[in-house]
Amino acid sequence: MIVCKSPLELEKMRRGGLLVWELLQELKSQVKPGISTLDLEQAAAERIRKQGARPAFLGLYDYPCVLCTSVNEEIVHGIPSRKKILKAGDVLKIDVGVEVEGYYSDSAISVPVGGISPELEKLVKVTEEALFQGIDHARIGNFLGDISAAVQQHVESHGFSVVRDFVGHGIGTRLHEDPKVPNFGEPGQGARLKEGMVLAIEPMVNAGKPGSRVLGDRWTAVTVDGSCSAHFEHCVAITNNGPWVLTRP
Ligand code: MG
Ligand code: MG
Repeated sequence: MIVCKSPLELEKMRRGGLLVWELLQELKSQVKPGISTLDLEQAAAERIRKQGARPAFLGLYDYPCVLCTSVNEEIVHGIPSRKKILKAGDVLKIDVGVEVEGYYSDSAISVPVGGISPELEKLVKVTEEALFQGIDHARIGNFLGDISAAVQQHVESHGFSVVRDFVGHGIGTRLHEDPKVPNFGEPGQGARLKEGMVLAIEPMVNAGKPGSRVLGDRWTAVTVDGSCSAHFEHCVAITNNGPWVLTRP
């Protein structure tokens, strides 16, 4: 069941959304060769606590951290580690969720570490563009498939592939609500978009093949062919005034 949110509920989600945006900007500014992904985890945990928010990922399905930090061929759900030291040329994905006043926010960015290759720069740029192509279709009367198709079309037109095994989702009083928001699909298919729906749209894009597998830690998803992957995510409310990106000023 897809739960639509009232304007008052959207205002609450907006507060969490901005908090997540500020947190990601802060973490991005700390990214440099030589730091570990655990350094970012510790900075994030402290900041979330100081803001009076609750980390959404910690403990959810027994996940052990507040951040997911996935590097290069890791697609999503990389676990922060002291042993994972960032180096120039890496592509780091930071994904974080918080709960504020009973409502969840969820957002992700891909961050180049030092200088990255032109091919990887293109991968990151196309993935972020695909997110905004999807967001532009998050309008009353459109279909879920319109968002999915817009993301897929943009990605594939640049020779990259969208991950099938992980998808976006509705969000609200739970981190993962209906509907699923795939990054592939057909225009005009799936649920009709209504005022008050909030969707976490999150293209995961591989430079090579779309396939993924999960490592022995039972969390980290990697590309099957070892190619690099990028990920961006925003929470978007469907409103009378068009798409409202809650996780960005
Ligand atoms: Mg996320
Ligand atoms: Mg999400």
